[in-house]
Amino acid sequence: GAFDARQSFRWYSEGRDAQIHRGYQLASDAKQGLLDGDFHLEYQPRFGAKGLKPVSVEVLIRWTHPTLGAISPREFIPIFERTALMDLVTDWVLDTALDQLQAWLAQRRQIPLSINISSGFLSSVGAWSTIAEKLSSRAIPFSMIEFEITEGEWLSPKSTAVGQIAAMAGAGVRISIDDFGSGYSNFSYLSDLPVHTIKLDKSLIDCVATDPRSRAKVSAIHHLAHELGYLTVAEGVERQEQLDVLKGLGFDQIQGYLLAAPAPALKVAELFEPLAEH
Ligand code: C2E
Ligand code: CA
Ligand code: CA
Ligand code: CA
Repeated sequence: GAFDARQSFRWYSEGRDAQIHRGYQLASDAKQGLLDGDFHLEYQPRFGAKGLKPVSVEVLIRWTHPTLGAISPREFIPIFERTALMDLVTDWVLDTALDQLQAWLAQRRQIPLSINISSGFLSSVGAWSTIAEKLSSRAIPFSMIEFEITEGEWLSPKSTAVGQIAAMAGAGVRISIDDFGSGYSNFSYLSDLPVHTIKLDKSLIDCVATDPRSRAKVSAIHHLAHELGYLTVAEGVERQEQLDVLKGLGFDQIQGYLLAAPAPALKVAELFEPLAEH
């Protein structure tokens, strides 16, 4: 039980053993955590760069572990991705976020969702039909959903994942490439993919106002993306100077603590006026 796990945790000093042990503990506690309501979602708005009006929200998972406290998705998502847990969690994220959107639509609030999707989920041939069914059963228009996909070597043209992405995009769902510029970035393989949006990684945005080389890189990526017809989004914008530079470059959308941090549904909904009835 939890008590034993904590006792044994103590015997490890620091370092790799403790980390591995913690990884096992997180993996073995996840299923029960889902049942117990230890997971919840937060929503971080994205804003149009020109008027700074909120245009959509990104769905971000949170886990408050009963003994370990708040765990970052940066820690548990990679662990889940190595197991069947990721499909279970993705399913939970989709159901919970789409229920929320359905509730917002009932309040006449149009709040498009960006949902992070792991590559593993997309490499199952049933991925899109599962999602399409979830959208249809809630009467959610496909165009209100965007999937954020992290680029990676798995995106080979003939892969199942690329097939699933093509099916989604064909049905009207939007696709964005997340963390662009941080890993396997290049524009050439994107031509095999029906991508709408390029989301520049925070690591590139961090120094955009202070380091000329960083600004040159961001400018080049942004302009090439625009030439190729993609929308550009900057993530992790924390300071006014960064916002000024990004606006000056002509970015389409901005996300970051400067404008809004991730927050519970109730708080985020206030940013989106309900449509007037007529
Ligand atoms: P991401 O998709 O790149 O999400 C952006 C992360 O940056 C989020 O961290 C967000 O809270 C944080 N962030 C946003 N604005 C700022 C800012 O101005 N400054 C700083 N320092 N941070 C900012 P979070 O929520 O901890 O998520 C971390 C990562 O975990 C996400 O990175 C994503 O890769 C993954 N993740 C989160 N939720 C899900 C999910 O439901 N499914 C999947 N597959 N992955 C998820
Ligand atoms: Ca994301
Ligand atoms: Ca990102
Ligand atoms: Ca990132």
